[in-house]
Amino acid sequence: MDPPRPAAPSVGACAPTIAAIATPPGRGGVGIVRVSGGDIAALVEGIAGRALPPRVATRVTFRDARGAPIDAGLALWFPGPHSYTGENVVEWHAHGGPAVMRLLLARCIELGARLAEPGEFTKRAFLNGKMDLAQAESVADVIDASTTAAVRAAARSLTGEFSSEVHALRDALIELRMYTEATLDFPEEDVEFLREGDVLARVAAIRAQLGVILARSRRGAILRNGLAVVLVGAPNVGKSSLLNRLVGDEAAIVTPIPGTTRDTIERPIELAGIPLTVIDTAGLRETSDAVEALGIARTRAAIARADVALVLTDAREPLADTRLAEELPGSLPRIAVRNKCDLAEITAHVEHGEDGAAQVWMSALTGEGVAMLEAEMLRVAGAEHATEDVYLARERQLGALTEAAAHLDAAGEHAATTPPAIELFAEELRVAQDALSKVTGEFTADDLLGEIFSRFCIGK
Ligand code: GDP
Repeated sequence: MDPPRPAAPSVGACAPTIAAIATPPGRGGVGIVRVSGGDIAALVEGIAGRALPPRVATRVTFRDARGAPIDAGLALWFPGPHSYTGENVVEWHAHGGPAVMRLLLARCIELGARLAEPGEFTKRAFLNGKMDLAQAESVADVIDASTTAAVRAAARSLTGEFSSEVHALRDALIELRMYTEATLDFPEEDVEFLREGDVLARVAAIRAQLGVILARSRRGAILRNGLAVVLVGAPNVGKSSLLNRLVGDEAAIVTPIPGTTRDTIERPIELAGIPLTVIDTAGLRETSDAVEALGIARTRAAIARADVALVLTDAREPLADTRLAEELPGSLPRIAVRNKCDLAEITAHVEHGEDGAAQVWMSALTGEGVAMLEAEMLRVAGAEHATEDVYLARERQLGALTEAAAHLDAAGEHAATTPPAIELFAEELRVAQDALSKVTGEFTADDLLGEIFSRFCIGK
């Protein structure tokens, strides 16, 4: 892991003491109350009855103001700066019941702590240089990850792999900037500058490396946001049956009467490590039934936010260009699903048209061809490699990386003119570096920090 870099100004020794229940609400074997602050020795003694040895688990009885026991458990004492937040930290590991947790937390408040805000522990860790911003954000990502692949991707950021790649790029940029700034005073040597410094090649190399990081981050965004798959088709073609097949339970009501699915039904599933929301829709058809009309309106809304559409038709009927396909936005990737291939007596298979459009022949009833459809869904959504070596980048980070890429491109153009526009080149490099620094938080506005950490859960 990269050594932590000093970041924004430190919170300082006099930061107020904060406390929070760090474990989720409810009952469990162990519940943890975490405290962080400048001088918390009195708080520790007030609860444990004595000072604690550093960084070992000590068995203690947690006591209230009158000395009566609240519970017995373990205490962990981390003197700053060798702690999660960089401040003095104590963790009380008691039994995990809501009442005992409340009592223990109240006792910490009584001894001078205040309730921590969401993400405040991690924010302090960032402000004290224990981790950079990308790492701090990944703490929440590891916790929020809904699939194992997403956990692994977030862990790459947490351990600093993502940050060190960004730092390496930034360092290469700084080196190039130093060289550029040094020659700015000698405009007559512009051409020499380019040739001797191999400037164009250096910019291209940095840009290529940034492209690799961006691609890995964009693929990771699929892991974070998941994919929405919408099932569309005339009533009775088998949309609900397919939803049940994909989900693996009886989520939607299947009946042979057209128009049974009156509303959209959403189910989360995991496909090859990617979180997927499958949305079954009311059949799109003219109707005088008010409830069904409402369902059809929701279908259109579901289509608008989908990543992939599965357009179902009956395998026994010729594939006519239906009104449905026309209603889908042109840019929405789609797969033609020829369902009920068992009735049509056609073996399940996939066909690719000349334009790459896929047609999957399958049966939602027997399950034949479902695996082919799943593979096709991942391919069409560009998610085939979404779990390999990716970074679980956030929109904020993606935005900053994209911005850096645009400025590097502009820098390359300024350097390629005759004569080269070296001042503009230098300026674009500077802005590109600022954009990269936003990713890891060396260059980040205070209000943005507030927004990032407020989305954490309390106790983190
Ligand atoms: P929806 O209106 O599009 O949601 O269609 P349903 O899923 O409710 O299915 C309508 C009828 O077709 C039900 O009786 C299903 O059992 C039947 N069905 C769906 N898929 C298949 C299939 O692949 N093969 C056969 N034989 N029947 C199917």
